[in-house]
Amino acid sequence: MLKCLVVFLMTTMTMFSGSLLGKSYPYSETTKLKHVVLEYIFQDEYSFGKKREISQLINKAFPEYVSIFGGLPRDLNDKPYRKIKVNVKQGEYIGGEADPGVIQLTLSEDVLFGFAGWKAIVLHELFHLWNAETIRYKSGLDQWFNEGFTEFYTYQVLTKLKLLTPKQALNIALYPIGYYSSAKGLGKISMRDAGKDNKSKFDHYFLIYHGGWVAAMVLDYRVRKDSNNKQSLDSLMKWLYKNFVRSKKLYTIGDIIAGLKETTGFDYRQFFSRYISGTEVIPIADYFNLGKIIWTETFEQIHSRDHEYLFWTLGIRAK
Ligand SMILES: [Zn+2]
Repeated sequence: MLKCLVVFLMTTMTMFSGSLLGKSYPYSETTKLKHVVLEYIFQDEYSFGKKREISQLINKAFPEYVSIFGGLPRDLNDKPYRKIKVNVKQGEYIGGEADPGVIQLTLSEDVLFGFAGWKAIVLHELFHLWNAETIRYKSGLDQWFNEGFTEFYTYQVLTKLKLLTPKQALNIALYPIGYYSSAKGLGKISMRDAGKDNKSKFDHYFLIYHGGWVAAMVLDYRVRKDSNNKQSLDSLMKWLYKNFVRSKKLYTIGDIIAGLKETTGFDYRQFFSRYISGTEVIPIADYFNLGKIIWTETFEQIHSRDHEYLFWTLGIRAK
């Protein structure tokens, strides 16, 4: 019993801003976990009720993200950190924001766009502590990378952590493809130009978030196939983390292309000029046939080698 109490005191340090008898909100609490320290501010009872699940989720995802980037998130002074302020409130729809060392979460039981639950927004905003707040785009033109790659890794890690089953991961992959394929401006405005300012980013939400996600999915698949699974987009993320810490240098699309070339040895310039800077639509069927893969998963259970690359891309296979 004493040992349990000591362990409890060692792992959880609690500061109360509300009364012990019935909390008043906002309510602050600091939770020290194995990989992170979370300085919570809960805005309401619903949010406080999610504390345990949010803590477990962040604690599990944090080392996955450290491994993708090859290091801890860094603040504006280039200082690595493990302490995160987490402001949580309940809302009608899930949403969030990130700043260095801070994530703001709006949670809801509603599933947004048919697939996105509150755990996804937690992992999305957590990922931004690296992608946006540690490495950062030079201009809004690269919002497709900022938001799309963040979505891609959110779902890959949810699957790696077994919070999504392989079947769910395959089914969810259809959503960005569907939203991208029917996005306003598809074939007329490039994914880059769509993010040029905040109004345009909002107007072309699905082209940027889901187009960027599809671009990440297709690129990761292609890099894995080209390199016989020796490389992936993780190599690019590590390269950016090493060379483009926000406080020193911001990245552009040219750096992304250069990083892929340097880390994988392959030149994907054409992909970017046609589908990211250009207005051509990514020919997803030239890379993989998701319907066929789901068919095989459901009825045949025998996978081709090409299917395996996609399983790695989606986090169904993991080291
Ligand atoms: Zn975001």
